[in-house]
Order: sequence, then C-alpha cells, then structure tokens
Amino acid sequence: MSDNQLRIVWIYPDLLSTYGDQGNALVVERRARQRGLDVARLDVRSDQPIPTSGDIYLIGGGEDRPQRLAAERLRRDGGLQRAVGNGAIVFSVCAGYQILGHEFINDLGQREPGLGLLDVVSVRGEGARCVGDVLGDVNPHLGLPPLTGFENHQGVTHLGPTARPLAQVRFGNGNGTGDGTEGAFNETVFGTYMHGPCLPATRRSRTCC
Ligand code: GLN
Repeated sequence: MSDNQLRIVWIYPDLLSTYGDQGNALVVERRARQRGLDVARLDVRSDQPIPTSGDIYLIGGGEDRPQRLAAERLRRDGGLQRAVGNGAIVFSVCAGYQILGHEFINDLGQREPGLGLLDVVSVRGEGARCVGDVLGDVNPHLGLPPLTGFENHQGVTHLGPTARPLAQVRFGNGNGTGDGTEGAFNETVFGTYMHGPCLPATRRSRTCC
C-alpha cells in the first residue's frame, strides 16, 4: 500500500450485506478511480480484524441476529473505533447505523451497546415497520444532492446533541421519530436508513456515475 492510496474498507459482508448496501463500497471505489485516485478496497469478514489504517469504512444493513453478532465483534475488535480516532470516514446504513450509536434493541429484545461513534440511540418502534421509498434533502452544510433509497426497519433512532440529522425527508420515515429527520452525522461518521444502495442511486448529475 502506498501512502497516497485511498483505502476503502467494506465491513462484514458475511453479516451485513442483506440489502445490497455493498453497492456503496463499489461506487465509492469506482468514483475514486474515475477521479484518478489510487484505490485499494478491502472486504473484511467478521472473523477478521478491522484494519485501523483505512480512509473510508462502509457498513451495511442486515437482519436482527447478524446485527447483534456484528456489534459484539466490532466492540471486541476495537479497530473501527481506533480508525475513527485517526480521522477515518464511516458511512453506515440501517443496522450498521444503529450499531454505530450508543445502543439499540437486539433480536433478544435487550439493549445492546453500540460503538458510541454517533450520538444516537435506537429503540424498537411501537408502530408498523418502516418500509418503502425515501427521498431526503441532505443537510445543506454537506453540499450534496438529495439522497434516495428504500427503508426497511423496526428501529426508531433518536439523535443526541452532538449528532446532526443527515437529511430531512420529503417522503418516507427516516429515523422514525415523526420529525422528518433521516440519518445522522458528526465530523466523519455518517448513518442513514436508506438502502438502495443509496450512494449509486444518488448522483450530482446524470453524467456522473
Ligand atoms: N434490525 C434493524 C431494524 O429492523 C435493522 C434492519 C435493517 O438493517 N434493514 O431496525
């Protein structure tokens, strides 16, 4: 690996790839190559250590049991937390988003600690599961086009004071809190409920990949 290589890490494809979110890793890699960057992509299975030298980490959605297993392994591993401490970017979707928060409700109905990389807490929604298309206007601070995807989750995510909503939905549920917020971010850590995968579905113009 050269020093000026962009290192993209796709976390736990064996546990959190149910909803096609791996497409986010593929498109980040492709877009970086189109911009002339030297790129290395590493897929890290749940029985492997998380490298701490990555630049961009992506983590997807999944079912409730794999989500608990992924949270346990990521907590035990500690590599993702160290990478964020080194300034790495993380883009997470749904189960991955919930894992990055302080806690979520696991498949056993218990409170499961997350990694605390995002100031959010996820609970189990009392109403119907949030399923369907989502379109959200991204926080203007980020200067990005609207984000689109589909959601499929029972969790409802509440943002703490140091997390900002990633987007405001035009339709769909997003965080499920009834205030139209979707996802969350801080300096380098991003979370969304949008599968799709959402990054390929979202483009600045029709001429871009
Ligand atoms: N198990 C979580 C929920 O239902 C996440 C589901 C997902 O990743 N789509 O809230």
